[in-house]
Amino acid sequence: MRSGELRDRFGRVATDLRISLTDLCSLRCTYCMPAEGLTWLSKSARLTDAEFVRVASVFVGLGVRSMRLTGGEPLVHPTLPDVIAGLAALDPRPEISLTTNGVTLAHHARALTDAGLDRINVSVDTLDRERFARLTRRDRLPDVLAGVAAAAAAGLAPVKINAVLVRDSNLEEAPRLLGWALREGYRLRFIEHMPLDADHTWSRADMVTAAEILDVMDAAGYRLAARGGRGHAPAEEFDVLDGPDRTEWAEPVGRLGVIASVTRPFCRECDRLRLTADGQLRTCLFARTETDLRGPLRAGATDDELADLLISAVSDKQAGHGIDDVTFVQPDRTMSAIGG
Ligand code: SAM
Ligand code: SF4
Repeated sequence: MRSGELRDRFGRVATDLRISLTDLCSLRCTYCMPAEGLTWLSKSARLTDAEFVRVASVFVGLGVRSMRLTGGEPLVHPTLPDVIAGLAALDPRPEISLTTNGVTLAHHARALTDAGLDRINVSVDTLDRERFARLTRRDRLPDVLAGVAAAAAAGLAPVKINAVLVRDSNLEEAPRLLGWALREGYRLRFIEHMPLDADHTWSRADMVTAAEILDVMDAAGYRLAARGGRGHAPAEEFDVLDGPDRTEWAEPVGRLGVIASVTRPFCRECDRLRLTADGQLRTCLFARTETDLRGPLRAGATDDELADLLISAVSDKQAGHGIDDVTFVQPDRTMSAIGG
């Protein structure tokens, strides 16, 4: 099989693959999906588990060393442990992580680690049940919190928590989220809202920026120190040196991450690729073009032929997401259909 690396014309080498297993989801977060309606991929359009693993094996041959399973909601994919086990059997074995809304995680955490899952991110935007129900349009906060605890108990600590802050909703709760994460030993990361929502409600003026998040933390009494050395990681990491609830923290996890994709883009360091549930390769979250892998795969393409497709697609990767360009147009696929 063809080996080598996936290098683009700007010298960036792709080593991380996000695989969206499904576009279906158990929640309907306002910043991601519409209240109702969205055209789902048909079962035949979605890759089978064997196809996901076959494509992943070609990526591994080309130097991809970490894979994150996402969606939609990956836990609604009924055979998620089988996919994880398939990826874990690749040589060299990639690091395998999962991004989930946590709704059914309490039932599956142990099976996922048994299958080979290494790390997990759970999305928790609020600890207030009513606000959660408004923000996600489903009353499932107790299930999510049980899922986070189950993941930690199953050996996936430190669990990372993703939170998108929305003005007029959970922004005022940001310090409370950090206090909770520090007490429980979870690693919180705030994510700037990106223009990928189905309702097209994103506006730069309304978006909560990284600078504003840091101001809110400062005003709440948290003292943060940038750790630097971010490398390819999207999150800027801060040590939490002090805070209003210092005595209650679980040691040694005193950290906060901020993913400022919009105001502090990390495109120049980007090492990521994305595979959609219907087998399309996207070289950027905001790409407006995709490379079809499903067609060639089902037409009998060899591993070398698939590798050539990947090499050619990656060499054309765009320089940056272009959100600030006057010509910027939001991609047709929403976040839930791309895989965040
Ligand atoms: N359903 C899973 C979940 O919510 O964790 C995985 C898929 S979701 C698309 C992955 C991450 O993207 C979540 O942390 C979610 O909060 C985030 N997300 C969704 N829409 C977003 C948007 N428009 N801007 C920024 N982050 C977004
Ligand atoms: Fe579903 Fe995740 Fe999108 Fe929320 S953010 S609607 S949980 S895919």
